[in-house]
Amino acid sequence: MFRIQREELIDELTKKGISDLAVIKAMGNVEREKFIPATLRHLAYKDVALPIGYEQTISQPYTVAYMTQLLNIKKTGLKILEIGTGSGYQAAVLNEMGCDVYSIERNLDLHHMATKLFDKLGIRVHAKYGDGTIGWAEFAPFDGIIVTAGSPTVPKKLKDQLIVGGRMVIPVGDRISQKLYLLIKKSETEFDSEVIPEFTFVPLIGREGWKI
Ligand code: SAM
Repeated sequence: MFRIQREELIDELTKKGISDLAVIKAMGNVEREKFIPATLRHLAYKDVALPIGYEQTISQPYTVAYMTQLLNIKKTGLKILEIGTGSGYQAAVLNEMGCDVYSIERNLDLHHMATKLFDKLGIRVHAKYGDGTIGWAEFAPFDGIIVTAGSPTVPKKLKDQLIVGGRMVIPVGDRISQKLYLLIKKSETEFDSEVIPEFTFVPLIGREGWKI
């Protein structure tokens, strides 16, 4: 039903500089309207973040595309940890790219809504309710970690749970504005890090995140 709008959005993302064909293909296949409250569905293919309830948002498509592109996913079967399941859209995009997705959400209602939706749409995501700042040790190490809420620092447990050679994409800053960081794990103790210009995210709340 939204096929043309979806193609137009993909064109827009390409013009804005998204070049990873695997990301473009996945976002061209995942139906964003299914992850959005019914009353806002007509806005599903505008390049904007939208409210999903509980003061949370589904990220702007450009942000999803940009962060996913930074993960540099070049083969299927990679184990990716997402912090902040939210609507489930980012996890669905990663799943569409052939990743084995682990996703943690701290809001119980959003967690339930996302897991129900994954079941309904037949999307295989390992979803957990809890504090993502401490990661998911049971399934570590991860080939990639994507944090979809802004954090005051890079949580140590997430660094520990990244495989050597793996990438973490995480917004870090104060509560109002964050810089997007790309960390590449060089050894058990060393990381290369690159800062990407301003993006704004909702706060990451938890033991190693912001306090409520
Ligand atoms: N990836 C989401 C999507 O595709 O809709 C976007 C989610 S929204 C921008 C960020 C989410 O992070 C919110 O749902 C929020 O509840 C969640 N969050 C914040 N702190 C968290 C934490 N410590 N652990 C897990 N989730 C957290």
